[in-house]
Amino acid sequence: MSALPIKEVLLSEEQIQARVRAIAEEVSRDYAGRDLLMVTVLKGGLYFLADLTRALDIPVAIDFMAISSYRGGKGPSGVVRLIKDLDEEITGRHVLLVEDIIDTGLTASYLVRALLARDPGDLAICTLLDKRVRRIVEGLPIRYRGFEVPDAFLVGYGLDYRQLYRNLPYIGVLHADLLHQPAAT
Ligand code: 5GP
Repeated sequence: MSALPIKEVLLSEEQIQARVRAIAEEVSRDYAGRDLLMVTVLKGGLYFLADLTRALDIPVAIDFMAISSYRGGKGPSGVVRLIKDLDEEITGRHVLLVEDIIDTGLTASYLVRALLARDPGDLAICTLLDKRVRRIVEGLPIRYRGFEVPDAFLVGYGLDYRQLYRNLPYIGVLHADLLHQPAAT
């Protein structure tokens, strides 16, 4: 781990996998007999969706969206652009939006509005991480939550720093001094 700019491991691979299995049990129970479509946002939600769906014991369809969020100089702006839309129709279906992390909630709130406009039968959020202390938007339909996390910059298990470290099987806190360095050219 010495070659990686990780200050500390916040959630180990074992902790994450145990929680994923527990959430999968709940989802399997709650959505039994329903037409379940799990949607995630590329690229961060990829690992969570892959592990979560493999731990389910009910049928599930999956689909992906991709967005780009504009972050102004003073932090998140809530301006989101859809880069890749769903392939699936969602009208009348039970849609579970699978998120890696909800921070201010601005991104999730945009996605919820966009999905609700298509009349799903039901829409809820399953987020692995919840940075509750930073929330700006209240009232998101979060039905499943893996862990509440502190206000630190996290990487691993889908979360990146400049597109790296998504593949770490654990979630770590990035060294703070790295965040203030200019991008390598
Ligand atoms: P929100 O719109 O809720 O403020 O932000 C959600 C997005 O911000 C996440 O999908 C993720 O891309 C990014 N984000 C928020 N906190 C972190 C973090 O600690 N680490 C990383 N890598 N991305 C984060």
